[in-house]
Amino acid sequence: MSKRLAGRTILITGASSGIGKSTAIEFARTSPKNLRLILTARRIDTLKEVAQEIQKEVGNGVKVLPFQLDVSAPDDVRSFVGKLPEEWREIDVLVNNAGLVKGVAKAPEIEEADINVMFATNVTGLINMTQAVLPIFKKRADGGAGDIINIGSIAGRDPYVGGSIYCATKAAVRSFTDSLRKELVATRIRVIEIDPGQVETEFSVVRFYGDKAKADAVYAGGEPLTPDDIAEVIVFAAGRRENVILADTLIFPQHQA
Ligand code: NDP
Repeated sequence: MSKRLAGRTILITGASSGIGKSTAIEFARTSPKNLRLILTARRIDTLKEVAQEIQKEVGNGVKVLPFQLDVSAPDDVRSFVGKLPEEWREIDVLVNNAGLVKGVAKAPEIEEADINVMFATNVTGLINMTQAVLPIFKKRADGGAGDIINIGSIAGRDPYVGGSIYCATKAAVRSFTDSLRKELVATRIRVIEIDPGQVETEFSVVRFYGDKAKADAVYAGGEPLTPDDIAEVIVFAAGRRENVILADTLIFPQHQA
């Protein structure tokens, strides 16, 4: 448990499943009382279930606000802070986790719609979320304070055949994150990147447009990480003392090494 997270407001994108959901539960489970969790995604009913699960099974005095937000809709992202209830606007930690991959195809065959949705979600969505929250961080005393935790991927460092667009989006996240960290160097705003390897979530089901058999085949022949493995690292990074930045962490399962 990190006392540094006491009373903090944590905003997680893509909190309806996988790594985002596990991260919400991990913050609630391991943090002191009075934590506020803003959980966002497109599936509001699923978010409400996650919120109920946290309040019923974890408790710990945590307050949870499920909020429907499509990160690929720029106008919604720009206006969402103003739509939060007043007492939820002082965000301390932004976890930019929402992301997806669509299809496995060599570059000439990739559908334009899939290219657009991957960039709009993984890159522009993450940048727009960051721009929406940074003014809150910057207006704090002493040049600003807050954490931006971006979920990249091993794919952003080690591109694979059939994933050129997804890999390019995650390379873009990596580049954006590095630049932002340098821009904010003399502030108390930390910019953190965590890059998972293979994690078993709905990610693979989304990649294959809902085909569960194809999705499961991805995990054959090795034991992937669980979303909890990544959630633990995210919460650890947020709980470090202010001068410590886990700038760049790659985490993958043994079989992927
Ligand atoms: P999931 O599919 O389980 O979770 C993805 C989350 O993103 C869901 O909550 C989904 O919610 C949300 N999301 C997708 N599109 C949007 C959108 N336009 N607006 C808002 N929310 C959106 O996959 P993971 O948990 O695995 O993925 C989380 C992150 O981890 C992603 O950035 C992914 O690229 C990254 N990652 C995953 C790896 C893996 O092997 N699983 C490996 C490396 C990185 P909803 O559908 O309700 O909007």
